[in-house]
Amino acid sequence: MKWIDLHTHSTFSDGTLSPAELLELAGRRGLGALALTDHDTVAGLDEFFAQAAARDFKVIGGIEISAWYQESSLHILGYGLNHHDPALLAALAEIQQARHHRNLGILDKLEDLGIKVPYQKITGQENGQVGRPHIARELIRLGVVHDMHHAFVRYLRKGACAYVESLRIHALDAIRLIRAAGGVPVLAHPAVFDASLAGVEELLPELIAAGLAGLEVYYPAHSHRQHRRLLQLATENGLIATGGTDFHEVNNGAPLGGSPQTVRVPFSCFDELHRQLNAGAEQQAR
Ligand code: AMP
Ligand code: ZN
Ligand code: FE
Ligand code: FE
Repeated sequence: MKWIDLHTHSTFSDGTLSPAELLELAGRRGLGALALTDHDTVAGLDEFFAQAAARDFKVIGGIEISAWYQESSLHILGYGLNHHDPALLAALAEIQQARHHRNLGILDKLEDLGIKVPYQKITGQENGQVGRPHIARELIRLGVVHDMHHAFVRYLRKGACAYVESLRIHALDAIRLIRAAGGVPVLAHPAVFDASLAGVEELLPELIAAGLAGLEVYYPAHSHRQHRRLLQLATENGLIATGGTDFHEVNNGAPLGGSPQTVRVPFSCFDELHRQLNAGAEQQAR
């Protein structure tokens, strides 16, 4: 059985491996399919596709958009979108601008707390997106905290002393944006936002009406119980089930492609997603 990973981050957002290195690792781990889903950017996809040509597994281009819905943050994954779509790129440019201001706001708050992190230290890859993990890694390097978890608990997570709210796109607009660019929108890690899943169930009709096509069912932080309920919700609502590890770096979080202790995503998820992508392409050709 070949496992797959449909949720990963590269140096184009807050991951530590380049798209080429991700593909290399996926090859070594024997994965059957890999998707790149950087936060709020598609800038890594050209490198991803160029480097994927020589690989003997399937690849899908993607994105993970940080959106909001009724004061909560919702992450919307988008698969197989046209990453040169002008409307998509224009909308992303606005989101990226907001991200930039938020990062500056976080650094200001840290400075008020006596922690000086120069902006140059957290600028990642050219054309890439900087996020809180970049700031967390710098706090570790400075010896302010000893790991990523404490950087978030003490400083960066919602409610912590250096937290800054970010201007975001509405979840329904994120879904429509992905659809308009020919992509398949999927709600990322639903149980992370709503452990009971009752709220997710309630908002699904509205998300589906906007074009939502799938739920990220397979995810390391989902319990067995949440996993089962999400599978059920996907079936009941005619949504595809996808999954991935949310890979950011080696030795932190689930390994690329998962493990028996974290999550395993079956190849059938790739097939379902692939069918959706083809159905969309056919509809556009008509
Ligand atoms: P941002 O995009 O700047 O809002 O940062 C969000 C990213 O921070 C997520 O994708 C995770 O990679 C990371 N993150 C969020 N919360 C935590 C946490 N409690 N511990 C470690 N990493 C986290
Ligand atoms: Zn991230
Ligand atoms: Fe996410
Ligand atoms: Fe993610």
